[in-house]
Amino acid sequence: ELKKQGRRGELLRFNKNIAVSLERRTLITELLSHKDLGEHFYVEYQPIVDSQQNIIALEALCRINAPTLGSVTPDEFIAIAEENGKIHELGKWVLNEACRYLTSQISAGNSPIMSVNVSPIQMKNPRFSIEIKEVLDKHHLPSHLIALEMTESFLEHEEVDGIIDRLNQIVEQGIHIYIDDFGTGYSSLSRLRDLPVHTLKIDRYFIASLEEEGDELVDSILYLANKFGLDVIAEGVETDAQFVHLQKLGCQNFQGFLFGRPTPDPLQH
Ligand code: C2E
Ligand code: MG
Ligand code: MG
Ligand code: MG
Repeated sequence: ELKKQGRRGELLRFNKNIAVSLERRTLITELLSHKDLGEHFYVEYQPIVDSQQNIIALEALCRINAPTLGSVTPDEFIAIAEENGKIHELGKWVLNEACRYLTSQISAGNSPIMSVNVSPIQMKNPRFSIEIKEVLDKHHLPSHLIALEMTESFLEHEEVDGIIDRLNQIVEQGIHIYIDDFGTGYSSLSRLRDLPVHTLKIDRYFIASLEEEGDELVDSILYLANKFGLDVIAEGVETDAQFVHLQKLGCQNFQGFLFGRPTPDPLQH
């Protein structure tokens, strides 16, 4: 009898968990459907630095403002936006916000590169490169100050050929492409060499495991990237020891909590 009650309790908890996650999903979907996304979303910027710790770029990271939901990570709401197609609107909104911030920074005398994450779903849109150009033109921004970050997973996408067409159109405009979270997928560097990619961002997993697992992997990524003429950014640098180690390996660009967390106005003027 006790066992039965235990099971029943488990089942109730299970149902309750499903109900909670469905409710979260419904609420997030609602927020994503607002006409003015600025009501519930905002953007933070995290510095990318060189060896002298000068800020060379900012990465735009989208945030949701939904107090009733507690903390909602971008991994959670981006996945929902990708499933229901709202990623097109949200992605465009983030780019527009990032351009607005970049414009204000240029007026204040700073000109970092602004790098914006894009989902492969956005890249399936045949008008994607035109829409990007429209946003940049609206803000009178030169395209060489913009970078788009994509994970290597697009290489496994069923519409990879279309996505590569889009990549070429974007790069022809002068926009840079960064491969995000590099090393976590299965792409080979030789495959990326044939694509119009400028920069590899080494996933923070490899940086975090430098000390314990050794540096062979990071070392060989740096070696090959150098051979293929690709820049490298080490992601997730949290300690001085990691920073020093990476510099010894020849890494020149860095991002991570050691240099600055994402904030709404990292270059405050
Ligand atoms: P990502 O593009 O790889 O962004 C880096 C993530 O690592 C960010 O998490 C950042 O806050 C975190 N991070 C930076 N430095 C450190 C560090 O030193 N230590 C640790 N532990 N973490 C660090 P965040 O902001 O939670 O974003 C997660 C992911 O959500 C991003 O990963 C990106 O894939 C996605 N994302 C965020 N904003 C957007 C967006 O506007 N569009 C798209 N498509 N995806 C976005
Ligand atoms: Mg990124
Ligand atoms: Mg990353
Ligand atoms: Mg990531």
